[in-house]
Amino acid sequence: MEQDMEMGSSTTILHNAVIVTMDNESRVFRNGGVFIARDQIKAIGQSADILQQFSSLTDQIVDLQGRILLPGLINTHVHTSQQLARGIADDVDLMTWLHNRIWPYESNMTKEDSYISTLLCGIELIHSGVTCFAEAGGQHVTGMAKAVELLGIRACLVQSTMDSGEGLPASWAIRTTDDCIQSQKELYEKHHGTAEERIRVWLGIRQIMNSTDTLLLKTRDTARELKTGIHMHVAEIPYENQLVMNTRDVDHGTVTYLDKIGFLQDNLLSAHTVWVNNTEIGFLSRAGVKVSHCPAAAMRMLGFAPIKEMLNADICVSLGTDGAPSNNRMSIVDEMYLASLINKGREVFANGTTDPTALPAETVLRMATINGAKSVLWDNEIGSLEIGKKADMVVVDPFSWPMVPIHDWITSIVYCMRSENVVSVMCNGQWIMKEKKILNVNEGEIISAAKEASSELLKRAGIKLPHRMNVL
Ligand SMILES: [Zn+2]
Repeated sequence: MEQDMEMGSSTTILHNAVIVTMDNESRVFRNGGVFIARDQIKAIGQSADILQQFSSLTDQIVDLQGRILLPGLINTHVHTSQQLARGIADDVDLMTWLHNRIWPYESNMTKEDSYISTLLCGIELIHSGVTCFAEAGGQHVTGMAKAVELLGIRACLVQSTMDSGEGLPASWAIRTTDDCIQSQKELYEKHHGTAEERIRVWLGIRQIMNSTDTLLLKTRDTARELKTGIHMHVAEIPYENQLVMNTRDVDHGTVTYLDKIGFLQDNLLSAHTVWVNNTEIGFLSRAGVKVSHCPAAAMRMLGFAPIKEMLNADICVSLGTDGAPSNNRMSIVDEMYLASLINKGREVFANGTTDPTALPAETVLRMATINGAKSVLWDNEIGSLEIGKKADMVVVDPFSWPMVPIHDWITSIVYCMRSENVVSVMCNGQWIMKEKKILNVNEGEIISAAKEASSELLKRAGIKLPHRMNVL
């Protein structure tokens, strides 16, 4: 500790906080403190004990005045590149969404657009208490990495990868399988472990309908070789399962096929995973596959995922927002609330009532924290507040209208908390938001740049949105 001080690196005590640790014992300290040196939690416990032991060694002592301290939230399915497309595909059917809006948008994006889009998305993620996210796959990983480095957040980045498929935009030349693997290996070399090790590079598969078997298997083997993860959209719509059955000689959809070819393994983050049967839930569980549940996007266009059944089968399920054109809100706080409501509403009894005991608050909070960390293969360092873990944490102010009065900390966090209650965020031992002010970038400048980049991009892509109502 003394050595840390001599080196001039920061040591901080945060005390007088309700600390929800999310550790194995589910400990909550009603008046807790935490001692942080550089990027790591060195001690956690009752405020009085922490102050007594570490005050003399500490540069900075912060009284949190009874606010809540949570582990940094983890968003396990985000399309940072789609942030500039918020609002371009509201209330349209899935094929219009994809063919007339999203593909023209994404295929006309530049690296600079991706950078601005990721900055804008990152600002919203941080405001909702997110310290780590898993990118679902965009075109320009280098643009994303630059933004993540600057924002001070943590991320697993992925290139959108496809080596087959029909109806894609002409400017999106389908790359060969080898090109897909090679380009991802280069991105791994360039960015993995950069930004004080906050950035990791994963392998990506956009979805099975755009992948040959060779790509799937080479992706599996390359991820094993690089000891990294794979992020893939899985079983999103019944049409996907049907197409897999028609073209790949298997009696049920994507998950059955992925199991058959030996693709399922414990470093796979399977996004959405809505259309799976009980046998397939068994396959996912046996292989240790992680599932990212995106409640808002699922309700908008995919359907009810069997989340309760997956949790009962010991599958690690975490939460994601998906992209801005599928959800509009990039708030994991909102997703906690929705995950709870949707999964209660899905359990309908014979008399038509729903099941308020389904997905209780502590389960949902686990999904947004420790399960998120397991899903991004980073739970040895993040996902809970414990000695030796990285100092990724969120300060929540519960003393305003959305949360008052509080009788139960955990239900209040899941059912009442809004992004507006998130006041400060620390990632890797550094404050990246303090009292709602984003510290590493200029929020106003990014908002201006994003407005301009988005309208230029829509013009370039030829996307025209019809007016609603009687616009004069
Ligand atoms: Zn997605």
